[in-house]
Formats: sequence, structure tokens, C-alpha cells
Amino acid sequence: MDIPQRVVEPAKRKPIPKDPASLGFGRYFSDHMFLMEYTPSKGWHDARIEPYHPLALDPSCMVLHYGQEAFEGLKAYRGKDDGVYLFRYRDNFKRMNASCERLCMPALPVDLVAEALKKLVLLESPWIPKSPGCALYIRPNIIATDAALGVRASESYLFYIITGPVGAYYPEGFNPISIYVSDHFVRAVRGGIGAAKTGGNYAASLVAQREAKSQGFSQVLWLDAIHRKYIEEVGTMNMFFRFGDEVVTCPLTGSILPGITRDSVLQVLKRWDTRVFERLCSIDEVVEGLRKGTVKEAFGSGTAAIISPVKSVRYKAEDFQVGDGKTGPLSKKLYDYLLALQYGHEPDPFGWVERIA
Ligand SMILES: *Cc1c(COP(=O)(O)O)cnc(C)c1O
Repeated sequence: MDIPQRVVEPAKRKPIPKDPASLGFGRYFSDHMFLMEYTPSKGWHDARIEPYHPLALDPSCMVLHYGQEAFEGLKAYRGKDDGVYLFRYRDNFKRMNASCERLCMPALPVDLVAEALKKLVLLESPWIPKSPGCALYIRPNIIATDAALGVRASESYLFYIITGPVGAYYPEGFNPISIYVSDHFVRAVRGGIGAAKTGGNYAASLVAQREAKSQGFSQVLWLDAIHRKYIEEVGTMNMFFRFGDEVVTCPLTGSILPGITRDSVLQVLKRWDTRVFERLCSIDEVVEGLRKGTVKEAFGSGTAAIISPVKSVRYKAEDFQVGDGKTGPLSKKLYDYLLALQYGHEPDPFGWVERIA
């Protein structure tokens, strides 16, 4: 498959930020983007790489009114021997297709978009930061583009991929977070769109996130919408608890996002012969474990942070410290191992890592 590319003249390219400490997340975008369109008669067509540019959308465009869209988030790493590494990227497109299915959008041709992704990353490889922990963040997005009002599934769509350098999540080492359990607002309900990576879920989360922030917490821990009892996930991460030598995470009930990092953690723990269970776990069980000290560690998992240790949990106006309030040994070991895999420093027994340059 030939993907034509129209590149920006070298003299007109944007300056690449030099200081890794200033990168942050989602603030800089590279020079090019991938795009293609869908119509029922032509299917996916006009796959191409172009200079990064604003989109022209009709104000009646369906995505802007009814939220029919899905996105992904993944990274390209500058790792061992100055190579360019990708991690489980085909799984991101498979998950995107599951999101598309739920939102009545056409499936993406995985081979084509995987090739497009690699071509774009290679073109933008000067943008991949070299500092440890930094990466090129990749954001694929699909939006409904019919210019019409009235609720129905759109017929036409735009798919595009943008990229940009992001800083290390923990520039000065692990910084365990405090989380706030929302017992009033819920993120998603079984049967709804919680398992799809789609904008509506994030719009639904903002008010609780604001409430958490205003009280000094960095993330919301969501409970299930029906019983307001079972742990679901936190912010943009899946959630794990270590009770003694057993690790527990919520099963994929349909209301949580099936994280690729979550799946990686499960597979790595199994390989390490650590006892790990996907089972419903109530906030009461967690609170009791925190009171008694049987919950030794808690951490979130996601592409941005990989592993995010949790130092305290607030539930119904009470604060509970996790373990000794510091990063636990298993959280640290998982973080170090996954990071080393992603940067090509550890042999990969899983077939997750691909060096593309
Ligand atoms: C993206 C996301 C995750 C983490 O998924 P990864 O594939 O591990 O990055 C978890 N929860 C939500 C709500 C997300 O949007």
C-alpha cells in the first residue's frame, strides 16, 4: 500500500523543543499528520500524510453535536541503540475498532493504519525525545463528518493521526498520588459507552474531576454506577490493589476501558508467578484492607504514566493511607520492567515491542 506524503520544507518546519523538562503533555505537535476519509460508496480512501493543519469542518458536522468519535493514545520511544520502538500498537487499533463498533462507526483497516502510523513516526522521528522517560505521543482520532442535524449515525468519517513529544511522567522519580472516591457522580454504566475510548466518557468525568482537584486530589476513583460500591477505574487509568501477595483488578465488566497497560500488567504478573485476580472488589473491602493494613499497594496503569502509585484514598470524607504512603516494591518493579521493555532494554518474551528504525 502506497501512502503518499506531502512534507513541509525543512526550512519551514517548527522548532523542536530542546528542553525535556518543558515538554509536559499534549502541548507540542509535530510537523505532519496522517489523514483518510470514509464514505459508504468509497470505503476508506485518500490515505495520505500532509503538513499538520487545522481541519475545516461544517458547523453542523455530526461529531460536534452528537459526539460520535473515538480516539487512541500510544507512544513511540527512542530506546536502545538510538532505535525507534513501538509497543503493542496493533492492539490500539483493534481497541479503536471495538470503540467504532460501539459507536456505529466503520472499522479501520488495521494493516493500513498500522503502516500509516509507522510511516508517520519515521517521518517525525527527529521529534522523538532522547531523554529517558520521554516519548512521541501518538493520537489517532476518528470523527463523524456528515454536515447535518438530527440524531443518527453519520455516513462519512475522517480518521487522522497527530503526534507530539511528551515529557517524562516522573522527571524526579515516582510521585505517588492521592485519589478521591466519587460516591455521587459516576463515569459510565454497564451497557453504556464506558468501554469505548470516546470523548463523551471524558466529558462525563469533568465535574467529579473538578471536585477532586478543588480538594487537592489528583484523580477520581470511580465506583460502579449501579451499586456505587465496586471499584471501576481511576481517571485515565485502570486500578490495581495488592492485598498481601495477591493482586486484584476489576474485571472487564463493560463499563471500564480495557487498558493495554492493564493487560500488560496482568500478563507480566502471571509470568512472574504472582497471584493476580480479575474480580469485583468493593470500596468497603479496600477501605477495610487499608484500615487493617492488608492493602499493601495500590496503583493505576495507563500509557501516559505506565504505573502510577497511589499513596492515599479519600472515601466519604475520611482519608486512608496506602501502606507506608510510599511507592510499593511491586509498583516499582512493574514500572521499571515495562519501561525497559518499551525502550528495548529488556528482551521481550511477549512479542509486544517492535523496533522500526
Ligand atoms: C486510555 C485509558 C486507560 C488506559 O489504557 P491504556 O491502553 O493502558 O493506555 C484507562 N482508562 C481510561 C478511561 C482510558 O481512557
